[in-house]
Amino acid sequence: MKKYLFYIVLIGLFSCSSSKTIVKRPITFNEERKVLTLEYLQNRYGLEQDSPEIDPKMIVLHWTVIPTFEKSFAAFDPVSLPNWRPDIKNVSGLNVSSQFMIDRDGTIYQLLPETTMARHVIGLNHCAIGVENVGGTDDLPLTKAQLKSNIWLVRYLKDKYDIDYLIGHYEYTLFENHPLWLEQDEGYRTKKTDPGTAFMNDVRKAVKDLNFKKLPTNHN
Ligand SMILES: [Zn+2]
Repeated sequence: MKKYLFYIVLIGLFSCSSSKTIVKRPITFNEERKVLTLEYLQNRYGLEQDSPEIDPKMIVLHWTVIPTFEKSFAAFDPVSLPNWRPDIKNVSGLNVSSQFMIDRDGTIYQLLPETTMARHVIGLNHCAIGVENVGGTDDLPLTKAQLKSNIWLVRYLKDKYDIDYLIGHYEYTLFENHPLWLEQDEGYRTKKTDPGTAFMNDVRKAVKDLNFKKLPTNHN
């Protein structure tokens, strides 16, 4: 009996001590990126702000397709989009990025402050924290370690902010008629499949108790 109790205590300790560390690995956020971010908020969403802050209401999970952390980081680090020409009007030169990136071994890297805007999801960047997962192709499916870290990070963020929605990037167009949707150009959409329905189902199952809101269904 004593031995049995000991194991229960041990299991309890392990499940409670699933504390993870977030490794800070900031991408370049200089004056130019700040200006491009403020322009993005203004031009795409009609939001005039002095600082590139967001009000987190949503977490968006992604995959990078790029096979390694270093290469994924290198894709997000430059301030402006590769091949961007500043003379093309209305197309933002701000490079894509995300606040978090999770490596294949589950290491959680933080690339930007949680409340600094990253360009990772059309229409919703002003309220969405982006979590990228390294990999995601058929050859390199997302790992169990990544799944665990996503679940941990979702809980961590939900505890910290007033977050209503958890979505996979492929679900973003469901918000087109939602008050949070601010993209002004109806022609500006890209089709997404990341991070896959199976991965989203697994994360959702594990965080069911957090009671995120149901996704809008008024998509047409
Ligand atoms: Zn994505």
